Amino acid sequence: MLRFLNLAVLLSCAFSASVLAQQDNFTLLREQVERARQQGQMDNADQLANQYLILANQRGDLLEQGRAYFNLGRNAMERNRYPDAKAYLQQAINLFLDINQQSLLAESYRQLGLTYRYQSDYGQALDNVYLAMQIYQTQQDTKAMASVYNSIGTILEKMGQFEQALQAHQQSLDLHYQTGDQEGIASAIFNLGDLNRTMGDRQKALSYFLQALKMDQAVGDPKNIAYSHNKLGFLYSELGNFAQSAIHLNQALALFEQIHAPRDADWARTSLAKLAMDQGNYDEAQQLLDGVIARAMKQEYKSLLVDAYKLAAELAIKKEEHSAALGYIEAGVIQARLNNERADEAILEKLRVQVLVKQDAVREALAALQHQKQLDDELFNAQRAATIANIQAQADFTRQQNQIELLKREQALQQAMVEQHRLYRNFWILGLAAGFTLLLMLYHRHNQKRLNRRLEQQVASRTEELQDKNLELQAAYKQLETISLTDKLTGLHNRHFLESHIESDLIHSQRLYQDWQRGKTPKPESADLVVFLIDLDNFKALNDRYGHNVGDDVLRMLKQRMQQVFRHSDYLVRWGGEEFVAVARFIRREDATSLAQRFVDSIRHSAFSPQGTEPLWLTCSVGYVCYPLAIAEHNSWATLIKLADLCLYAAKHSGRDGWVGLDDITADSSISLSSIDSEQIQQLVAQGKLHIQHSFASPLRWQSSTAK
Ligand code: GH3
Ligand code: MG
Ligand code: MG
Repeated sequence: MLRFLNLAVLLSCAFSASVLAQQDNFTLLREQVERARQQGQMDNADQLANQYLILANQRGDLLEQGRAYFNLGRNAMERNRYPDAKAYLQQAINLFLDINQQSLLAESYRQLGLTYRYQSDYGQALDNVYLAMQIYQTQQDTKAMASVYNSIGTILEKMGQFEQALQAHQQSLDLHYQTGDQEGIASAIFNLGDLNRTMGDRQKALSYFLQALKMDQAVGDPKNIAYSHNKLGFLYSELGNFAQSAIHLNQALALFEQIHAPRDADWARTSLAKLAMDQGNYDEAQQLLDGVIARAMKQEYKSLLVDAYKLAAELAIKKEEHSAALGYIEAGVIQARLNNERADEAILEKLRVQVLVKQDAVREALAALQHQKQLDDELFNAQRAATIANIQAQADFTRQQNQIELLKREQALQQAMVEQHRLYRNFWILGLAAGFTLLLMLYHRHNQKRLNRRLEQQVASRTEELQDKNLELQAAYKQLETISLTDKLTGLHNRHFLESHIESDLIHSQRLYQDWQRGKTPKPESADLVVFLIDLDNFKALNDRYGHNVGDDVLRMLKQRMQQVFRHSDYLVRWGGEEFVAVARFIRREDATSLAQRFVDSIRHSAFSPQGTEPLWLTCSVGYVCYPLAIAEHNSWATLIKLADLCLYAAKHSGRDGWVGLDDITADSSISLSSIDSEQIQQLVAQGKLHIQHSFASPLRWQSSTAK
């Protein structure tokens, strides 16, 4: 007996030791991925992350799979491969949503937001970062909230919303002080310095950076110390203090090399090249830049490459090597376009105008100028769109800062206009001096007048626009309802939310099936999406009898019924009026019928009791469709809703208080699902090509008896 007990103890020890060992494996691997990434060994980092994924897949561990995708996403970000990064992070998000792993979900949202920021898609960036913020807020994770504020601040800064960026960084600083996180405090101060530099207050920026450096040195993280040195070096060179600049930049470079951060080292070398150029050491500057460009191309440091091209073009202009300058500019424009860095593209076009004017190439200069203006306009419009999204996300900030913001923008815009005027004038004076024929001169003058007139019109209309800003803001608040993600009445998500989240689910589900069809994976177990469209029966009569307030109460109560039947990770949405959508995510389609039945029962079997009325016995009808369907692989979301709607109508026509569902279609693909109607559906049912299930005892009716 004793021996048997010993054996059992031994066995259980061995078992828990092996579980522990596996966990250790994951922890160890994760640390290795992070280290490789920090040291810029990206091939190694990717290899390790893939190894992680394989291990996680073998164990079927959703948490570790999510972490693997997260790390693949972070690696892709580090390589500036933004589309890949987005796809990986979205995978991680889906997995973390499935297992309800809130902290990792929040971190993934934040990283996805930052990816969007690098691509200048600020609206999406803010959306995602605020999703992260919501989670951290419910978890009361002050430290994480502080770093999200940091991210918000840097996004707002990129959007030119300096006041609000300042507030965000200050919030971050406050929270970091609360938690006493020295590294966090230093990074918030660093960001405040950067913001002040962007806003043109270099003295203030200097004092912030010096303070950040001191704190970084106290904490002792060489990477942060190096970043502070780098910024200080850059700032001192802008202030004309070349000696101090050189000291800091060289320290930064030495530290980056010491910690094996090759990309950051090349950023420092780019700053050193600029310093050399400003001091007139053109050869030294060129040599540094040649090295940076070669490595950046090889290692795909895409943002750095654009910066290096920009500086190389400036250097070539200084050296009066105009065709070399144009070469760098063209390469820079192509890369900036690939990176979707439109602000940089505009700066490069500005340089191009400068070179072409020097070469007397007036016609080409005009073309470049027009392109640059178009880019500026696009940026202006993109920022306006993102601004509206931002108003939604942080209405409090906006309300307070409204007035100051207005003045700042007006100033900035006027300054931009003045600059543009000056540019136009110089352009024409040079054109004249070049000695063009009288005819050409007249032609250009005519053109100039036209352009000036257009410009004046634009100035006038934009000034007016600014004066109307207050009105517009009010309108924007109204617009919040359309861009907000939640439904006010029920607190459920709304249509806007669903439309912006469903696409990635459709892709994910389809990919699971494709992987199977290509023999990469076994047949997926739970890879289907089921879209349920729910409509209360005879709701109008209820409103008429008891009044709208009672109707509203019932709609609110419907939310709980939905939550009882569907899972936490399913999407529950008020589609409009008294129609609701539930998307059951990643289930087996065989389970759809019982879900539909459970929901219909959940309404029928217990009464609704709004305040001040007798208990109300209601019923509902449900139409659903499963995804993916066998034909027409790329069914759009709109098609799915249309099919669910046709099923819902069939349920209504067949007597209500029941459900109709479309499992699959195996018809030939000559039928266009996006425009299918109830008559064609009836034909397909008759031919047995449509797999329909329903809860009605008598045969289904697809149309009302009066129709047709
Ligand atoms: P059935 O769906 O069974 O065919 O009949 P119904 O009476 O529900 O018909 P229908 O769907 O056409 O009517 C929807 C009604 O829902 C109309 C409107 O009075 C009511 N409704 C829509 N939105 C709201 C809302 O936000 N609050 C309230 N109280 N009622 C709403
Ligand atoms: Mg309805
Ligand atoms: Mg109804």
